[in-house]
Amino acid sequence: MNAILLGPQGVGKGTQSEIVAPQLGLARVGTGDLLRAAIRAGTELGRQAQEYYDRGALVPDDLVIGLVVEKLREIAAATPPLSGALFDGFPRTRPQAEALDRALGEIGQRIDRVVDLDAPRPVLVARLTARLICGNCQTIYNLRTKPPRQPGVCDVCGSTDLRQRADDTEEAVVERLRLYDEQTQPLLDYYRARGVVREVDGDQPIDRVTAALLKALA
Ligand code: AMP
Repeated sequence: MNAILLGPQGVGKGTQSEIVAPQLGLARVGTGDLLRAAIRAGTELGRQAQEYYDRGALVPDDLVIGLVVEKLREIAAATPPLSGALFDGFPRTRPQAEALDRALGEIGQRIDRVVDLDAPRPVLVARLTARLICGNCQTIYNLRTKPPRQPGVCDVCGSTDLRQRADDTEEAVVERLRLYDEQTQPLLDYYRARGVVREVDGDQPIDRVTAALLKALA
C-alpha cells in the first residue's frame, strides 16, 4: 500500500507518520526530513534547497522529485521487504503528484489512500511557533503540547541544543500556510476524483488522531 498524509504545516503529519508507518510496515517518506538531512550534510542538493527552505518557500519540484525517486528505489530494494510507503509533506504541487504517479506506475504500484488531516488555522500557527527541534537527533517537541521531560534537554539523546526551526518563525509560517492553500490543498480534488481520500480531524490529542488515522488507512 502507498498512502499520502496531506495536510497543512503543524497539523501533525510528521508526528503521526512516525507512529503509524512502522505499525503498518510502511517506509516513511518525509521530504522535509530528507531536505533537512541534505542541508545538514552540506550536499549539492542541500545547498540548492537551503535558500528556499529557510524562508518557508517550496523547494523546486525537480530537486524534491529527484529525492523521492531515489527513496522509492531504496524502498523497493529493502530487506526485509516493506509493504509500501507513507508520504509526509509530498506531493505538495500538481507536478509532484503527477511525477509520483509516474514513478509508482513504473513499478506497477499506485496511491491507494490519501488522508486529509486538518485543523483550524489558529491552532496550527500556535503549534508551529511553539515547536522546538533537537539540533542533534531532530526529535520534535512542542512547548505547549509535547514539552521535553526536562526543560531544554532532549528526551532521546540528552542534547541541550533544542532550537526553533528556521522556517517556524511567524513570518515563514504565514508564508508556508499561504503556499499550502494555493498549491497543495487543490491536490485533494486531484485525488478525490479517484475516491481515495479520507478525512481525519487533526485537532485532537495525539493518540486519538493516531487511532483515527489507522482506521482511515486500514
Ligand atoms: P516540512 O518539514 O514538511 O514542513 O517541510 C519544510 C520545508 O521543506 C518546506 O517549507 C519546504 O521549503 C521544503 N519542502 C518539504 N517538502 C517539500 C516538497 N514536497 N516540495 C517543495 N518543498 C518542500
